[in-house]
Amino acid sequence: MKIFLMNIITFNILSKLIKRSSIGLILFSSCLLVSNNCYSQKHNYRIKTIVIDAGHGGKDPGALGKKVREKDIVLKIALKLGSYIEQTYPNLKVIYTRKTDVFIPLNERSNIANHSNADLFISIHANSNPNPKIRGTETYTLGLHKTQENLRVAMKENSVMLYEEDYSTKYEGFDPNNPASYIIFNLMQGVNRDKSIDLAELTEAQFKNRAGRHSRGVREAGFWVLKQVSTPSILVEVGFVSNPTEEKYLNTINGQDYLASAIYRAFKQYKNKIEDSSVVLNRKKIEKSDSVTSYPNVAVAKKNDSELIYCVQIKSSSKKIPLNSREFKSLTNIEERISSGTYKYTIGATDNYREIILLQRKIREKIKDCFVVAYYKGKRISLSKAKKLQKS
Ligand SMILES: [Zn+2]
Repeated sequence: MKIFLMNIITFNILSKLIKRSSIGLILFSSCLLVSNNCYSQKHNYRIKTIVIDAGHGGKDPGALGKKVREKDIVLKIALKLGSYIEQTYPNLKVIYTRKTDVFIPLNERSNIANHSNADLFISIHANSNPNPKIRGTETYTLGLHKTQENLRVAMKENSVMLYEEDYSTKYEGFDPNNPASYIIFNLMQGVNRDKSIDLAELTEAQFKNRAGRHSRGVREAGFWVLKQVSTPSILVEVGFVSNPTEEKYLNTINGQDYLASAIYRAFKQYKNKIEDSSVVLNRKKIEKSDSVTSYPNVAVAKKNDSELIYCVQIKSSSKKIPLNSREFKSLTNIEERISSGTYKYTIGATDNYREIILLQRKIREKIKDCFVVAYYKGKRISLSKAKKLQKS
């Protein structure tokens, strides 16, 4: 509207000029061109590419029910979901990490999303639990688990990396079966988090309201496959193969249809919402913000300062620095400490040295000269003293 008015005003002024000279005409047309360009940029963001990831495959069967294997169920749902999207949006590119029963390394799945410049990544899985009574759907976004139950699901899904040779090198020493390894998931994907949660909520609402499933809700946990993807992403657990009723449902064409349609409708709602959103000005802005996400925000559970803690020092200054200062490269959960008359800014607090080293490695992606420091009862001590204290 504003641009429209501007054009009218410009028109009035310039039309007088046009009468006088041909320069006016040139000016007039170039001005219109600029205005139109601005206008179209406001409306040109479209979801162009989506990656659908059917979990497991080949030598990795995933969770096993009495009759079904996770890898078969999720492939069927993934293919259905993709075909619904392709039918409705012929111009939208749907990429599958697998269309057949083949083994795909975990890193490869996220590489497919990153290399294709995907706008969205949906990973489809089925759950299992030693307790056969547990049933329902869960949709995960990347984050630190809040419950042991969510950690268990992430460990189960991440442990597929053990099928790969040399997984320890490939996955930077990450041990999927060691809860301590999961500290790195404190490192949130700040920019994509809201969008991912949005899609996750829409998906669970569809499961519950339209597919009549028991929704166990939206959750966060440390899934390696989501960690590597630099675009909004969710991991859907469509049901428990360990629950006899749900296993039966998952194994029917009807059940698979319902589940795929539910995810499809959630995708459609998400797509409409995000493309209509006035916040999204243009494609360029999205790409720019996505590139930021490879640098995660950092949050670490705070330990009681009366204990021995390790943290990562990111800045030292004689003057107080606001925590939202640009110097901190949009890292979050920064602590201010005053030590020997200077302000020290740190992130993290843990008594586990290995954890803090992992955190330091991550923060160095943004602040190269950060380093690990130790505090005991609120006072700075040397790392060697800290280690001695821990041994005693
Ligand atoms: Zn799985």
